[in-house]
Amino acid sequence: TYTLGPKIRNWDKDRKIWLQKNPEFPNSINGKPRILLVTGSPPNPCDNAIGDHYLLKAIKNKIDYCRIHGIDIVYNLAHLEKEMAGYWAKLPLIRRLMLSHPEVEWIWWMDSDALFTDMVFEMPLSKYNRHNLVIHGYPDLLFDQKSWIALNTGSFLFRNCQWSLDLLDAWAPMGPKGPIREEAGKILTANLKGRPAFEADDQSALIYLYEEMIEKYHPGLGDERWPFVTHFVGCKPCGSYGDYPVERCLKSLERAFNFADNQVLNLYGFRHKGLLSPNVKRIRNETDHPLQYVDQLDVRHAKHKNT
Ligand code: UDP
Ligand code: MN
Repeated sequence: TYTLGPKIRNWDKDRKIWLQKNPEFPNSINGKPRILLVTGSPPNPCDNAIGDHYLLKAIKNKIDYCRIHGIDIVYNLAHLEKEMAGYWAKLPLIRRLMLSHPEVEWIWWMDSDALFTDMVFEMPLSKYNRHNLVIHGYPDLLFDQKSWIALNTGSFLFRNCQWSLDLLDAWAPMGPKGPIREEAGKILTANLKGRPAFEADDQSALIYLYEEMIEKYHPGLGDERWPFVTHFVGCKPCGSYGDYPVERCLKSLERAFNFADNQVLNLYGFRHKGLLSPNVKRIRNETDHPLQYVDQLDVRHAKHKNT
């Protein structure tokens, strides 16, 4: 069967020794575990030019979030294993990054078509001290119904540890192109409820609630009142086909992007003219004592977080 490389068995111990020997590369900074956010897109241009423009917006959104929260970021354009092309490309990539960055505690994968829509909220990683995988999902759908939509692989975190390497080893053999992938697909379809009907288009439905959220709530809440990440499932802005019309998909992406970008621009005194407008307008007058706005509006200041 297909493997990602030689079996690694002592990663936890080896990594621990490496960290002890390399104190200038600690796995936590200011008491917070070091995170590496990973995303990427295919090595070639999108089928349609507008797709590349949305990839640019999507990476800007992630750069903004990572800058605000002190997270490192990697953008991958390569297919590291030619057998594992397309969405399977993330598996060898995640493994490679874990092994090449022993100082990183968590690898955070995000699809190119997933956007941060809450620029303030921080993953409560201290809650996950005893966990190795953080993924959005619905426990009842996963364990009882084994539903196709129980988990969403658009955004998840892997701890850099032996358990994660073992999971990747178990996952990868389903990936290589050709008969193996097709067979695995049959098994999955037979066993997962609802695959591949994308009936659950709740994420784009949510987009239409943004105005209401802006009226009533604020970012940083970390619950359904303000979505942390919005993933455009089945919406392929870069490819030639999707599960619904590309105009609807691009409009929703535009709204989500501007919704998030307003949270970034606020510190600088601007906001988009509307959620569908790439143009911005000034929201404050210039001042000769700008520090008041830094204290008040920079979301990195502790008093703005998770309240
Ligand atoms: N991806 C990549 N290289 C590729 C194809 C996909 O890095 O050649 C990444 C990209 O970030 C994309 C994710 O893998 O969002 C998932 O791919 P897929 O085509 O399945 O997109 P989705 O079904 O999530 O829209
Ligand atoms: Mn996706």
